[in-house]
Amino acid sequence: MTSSYFSLREAVEQGRTTFTAAVEEFLSRIEEKNQRLNALLEVYAEEALYAAHYWDKQQLQGEKLPPLAGLVYVHKDNIAVANHRLSAASRILEGYVSPFDATAVERLRAAGAICIGRANCDEFAMGSSNENSAYGPVQHPTLEGHVPGGSSGGSAAAVAAGFCHVALGSDTGGSIRQPAAFCNLYGLKPTYGRVSRYGLIAYASSFDQIGPISATLEDLIATYEVIAGFDPRDATTTDLPVEPFKRELPPPQRWAFLVPEGLHPETLSAFEKLQNALCQAGFHITSIEFPYWDYLIPTYYILTTAEASSNLARYDGVRYGYRTQIASTMDQLYARSRSEGFGREVKRRILLGTFVLSAGYYEAYYTQAQKVRRLLYDYTESLLQEHEVIAMPTSATPPFKLGEKVKDPIQMYLSDLLTVYANLTGHPALQIPLGNYIGLQLMGPLFTENRLFAAGYVLASLPL
Ligand code: GLN
Repeated sequence: MTSSYFSLREAVEQGRTTFTAAVEEFLSRIEEKNQRLNALLEVYAEEALYAAHYWDKQQLQGEKLPPLAGLVYVHKDNIAVANHRLSAASRILEGYVSPFDATAVERLRAAGAICIGRANCDEFAMGSSNENSAYGPVQHPTLEGHVPGGSSGGSAAAVAAGFCHVALGSDTGGSIRQPAAFCNLYGLKPTYGRVSRYGLIAYASSFDQIGPISATLEDLIATYEVIAGFDPRDATTTDLPVEPFKRELPPPQRWAFLVPEGLHPETLSAFEKLQNALCQAGFHITSIEFPYWDYLIPTYYILTTAEASSNLARYDGVRYGYRTQIASTMDQLYARSRSEGFGREVKRRILLGTFVLSAGYYEAYYTQAQKVRRLLYDYTESLLQEHEVIAMPTSATPPFKLGEKVKDPIQMYLSDLLTVYANLTGHPALQIPLGNYIGLQLMGPLFTENRLFAAGYVLASLPL
């Protein structure tokens, strides 16, 4: 049920169809399936049709179309689109309307892309199953009773269900890659600093990146190339130029495989098959004993909850969103608005983050975790001197059942083991679907997204 932008573009250029017909088809699928899936919280039908009509007219008049004219996408509910609601799937931002576009959205608009709706997600992007949304969970589009992954579960489900070509997600610890893996899609977490975070609701600012999810590598790359690049409104973006990807780029030869214990048998066998196929094809594969598995989850959760507790302090019932009805003092107004507005998981993380930053524990937790983060970065850089890419599963298991993990936060956190690594070190990571809802992710040196794309094409051509 997935469609590719470039095949549509070709068909439009040959006069076989129109952008309007494509948008109508997406809208009718949304109409048919969104109520059950709950992937989109809002649909911009009129605007999307209007834009499609505009590009059809340009095409008919023989105008040169911009690079993504007529590409249909959805934005995760934590990425701002001007004059549209934005809630991070939280009650606390109920009714909030963004006065501006995120930089990624502004660039997509300028490139001709059409935004068709706002995708459900975990509240403030905290979660791995999309069960933490104040607007209800998202259903897996094809595996009934299963989760689509999270926190960008609505984004991934929307692409897999054929509601759009591409979705924008955000990835703080795997929220693009894991739902993309669960829905048999491509997903990219760009290098930290490659895509502007301007207009992204902050969760953990030194980890967050916006990136694309799509059914084809071509659509993913084209979207990435539009949204990437320096932005004066985000001081952490780099001014390193974004080199356009070329299919002739030779793929990496030396691959380091990191495969932890305790993988689901299906994931493990998919990996063994993959390693064999790569060896047969002449690639140089090395299995690495990664020494830091036990440190990834604790370090990630100490640092991200610390940053979240600070970032989420701004939701106080005064400036925007939800305000309690019952408060007679200022302190009560803050406390009640926050107690009523935030969901359970978000509160848990604010408490944990406040704790690790508190005077008596700061050195023991926060400072220690910062040191481990540095250690991981140095280790990864040295590994990438010897090997061109690091490969590992994206998730240790295929999609799990709705309700299976949501009552046990530790089990849920452990499901992030393989994805948080790239956010801790800032390296780019590309999720590649292997079929059967199992994904491989590749990490490379900073700003080598193109190397990962070249590797992605190799995998697509292997007999798996
Ligand atoms: N599942 C992870 C978390 O809950 C990652 C979330 C994300 O990348 N936004 O923190």
